[in-house]
Amino acid sequence: MFFYEITLIFAKNANFALKFCQGIHECLKKDKDMIVTILGSGTSQGVPVIGCTCPVCQSKDPRDKRLRTSILIQTDEVTVAVDAGPDFRQQMLRENVTKLDAVLITHEHKDHIGGLDDLRPYIFKQKKPMTLYVDDTALPEIKREYSYAFDEHPYPGAPTYDIHRLDETPFDIGDLHFIPIKLKHYTLTCYAFRVGNFAYVTDLSEISEEAIEKLQGVEYLVIEALQKKKHYSHLTLDEAIEISRRVGAKKTWFTHCSHSMGLAAEVNRELPENMMLAYDGLKIKI
Ligand SMILES: [Zn+2]
Ligand SMILES: [Zn+2]
Ligand SMILES: [Zn+2]
Repeated sequence: MFFYEITLIFAKNANFALKFCQGIHECLKKDKDMIVTILGSGTSQGVPVIGCTCPVCQSKDPRDKRLRTSILIQTDEVTVAVDAGPDFRQQMLRENVTKLDAVLITHEHKDHIGGLDDLRPYIFKQKKPMTLYVDDTALPEIKREYSYAFDEHPYPGAPTYDIHRLDETPFDIGDLHFIPIKLKHYTLTCYAFRVGNFAYVTDLSEISEEAIEKLQGVEYLVIEALQKKKHYSHLTLDEAIEISRRVGAKKTWFTHCSHSMGLAAEVNRELPENMMLAYDGLKIKI
């Protein structure tokens, strides 16, 4: 039987966070649960935006401080990150992630791949190339961006990757079974991932009937919602709410939020029951 538990962990409450993490660890051993951590919940510029004086960027509420979007999925057997953006190093230090088995790349935008060089500590410590799941469009971009890692004779110390081709074929990493789901992100292809009754869906401007079908029955959904106003390559809050309802999610968190979304405390008050804005450090126990 599945269950969920949401615990608010704010950076200023470190003692409580520590106790909770120890609790998770014990629980994992007993029940083989899966923990999803929101590493970052912000759009490509992050929140606050450099130099911005709007109320959201000036807010003292930790839920209004958003690093670039990414999640971590953990069981007692494996630890998998979805995307490694420019804040990857900071996120892994914050969450004290001591091992990493694989990184799944949703698409090639910089806010999702900007941290691939920072995989080096795991590559060195684990003494093997990092497993990357990447599709055929994102891979050439990664090779261009990190050309030094793909040199025939790479400079010593360059990161090494074990590339797995990502398409719509499901795959397993340890005890996790991933179903990749193709999305349209303006002119780009992006992938969502379903793992059991959880799904992570970010960077899309529209969703196909086929994708909706693959998401049917998901109980816990993390989906992007950039802002309330229409955008050419991202979902609005209303569009994301509609998708959540169509797939029948029991609990939904919105991520990849921009400062234009508004203050987390205010937006959360307006949202339907069982829907809220995600925030950095949120742990969802599944
Ligand atoms: Zn993005
Ligand atoms: Zn702002
Ligand atoms: Zn994108």
